[in-house]
Amino acid sequence: MGTDLHRMQLPREVVVGNNTLDQISTICKRLGFSKSALIVMGPKTMEIAGRKVMDILTDTGLQVDHLVVTSCNIKDIVFVEDKIAELKPQVVLGIGGGTKIDVAKISASHKETPFISVPTTASHDGIASPLVSLKGLDKPYSLMAQSPMAIVADTNIIINSSYRFTASGCADVISKLTSVRDWKLAHEVKDEYYGEYAANLASMSARLMVKNAGLLKTNIEEGLRVLLEALISCGVAMSIAGSSRPCSGSEHLFGHALDQIVPKPALHGEQCGVGTIMMARLHNINWRQIRDTLKLADAPTTAEQLGIEPDLIIEALLRAAEIRPDRYTILDERALTSDQAKALAKTTGVI
Ligand code: ZN
Repeated sequence: MGTDLHRMQLPREVVVGNNTLDQISTICKRLGFSKSALIVMGPKTMEIAGRKVMDILTDTGLQVDHLVVTSCNIKDIVFVEDKIAELKPQVVLGIGGGTKIDVAKISASHKETPFISVPTTASHDGIASPLVSLKGLDKPYSLMAQSPMAIVADTNIIINSSYRFTASGCADVISKLTSVRDWKLAHEVKDEYYGEYAANLASMSARLMVKNAGLLKTNIEEGLRVLLEALISCGVAMSIAGSSRPCSGSEHLFGHALDQIVPKPALHGEQCGVGTIMMARLHNINWRQIRDTLKLADAPTTAEQLGIEPDLIIEALLRAAEIRPDRYTILDERALTSDQAKALAKTTGVI
């Protein structure tokens, strides 16, 4: 960085709970958006939540335009950016699981327009982070965009999404148990900037998730609230750190490596969760507890449950460190041979 200046951009409103969508116009008005809004969503999320948001905002007198996107590649982003330039909305709302929020977040950021995140699933921490993951770039990891100005998470809608997304989000939170270790390691070995506050916020979210993972099966409403608060706290941890560092370490590099080599990858959080089991073993922390917590939440803990061939798990372990050479992790420290990678996957029961 070369300077002491450290900019943190944080959400101003976080609203989590039952039927929070009903409050969307109040929230927009409170933030000063009473004239116009552009809604970015997918065809499915339009039915689940988008139409309702459009109606509520239109009824309260806003000029509402909407765009339906299906992916998050450069073409989609340019398409949305052109619309923002043309319509000049006061605010962009991203409604959806992952890609829709990402397209809205990065396009709005490029056009210096505020962005509100309206997640319809709790599948990963991108719902609240300042980062986006783009497909079709040479870099498979995420890029800085902007923090959402508000996050409006309606548990009534999220509770009706496929449980697989929820379990995947839980695994993404648990992955902070190793990403924070990797960050600390990079600080010790490479003198990389380390923010204790951001690190503690991320690891506290993971610990609370470990403690409450059982709720997802016994009391989904309570469990979802814990999960959403954890995901949002992880997003805030990244905003404070100014990078994805607190929330993305070796286990994410493993997940990104799988994305590159597996014909049909599993969900982001699912892959990172399995990575966390193995990276925890490398870090000499309690990998069995991590595995058991994932099991408790019904998240995958094996290659078979991910639907991925054992050989590809080993290949991803070997490739992970190359995904992002600037990000020092336990994988650089250990420099696994192919036999060691295989042994790691076997002892942790992944293959
Ligand atoms: Zn993640």
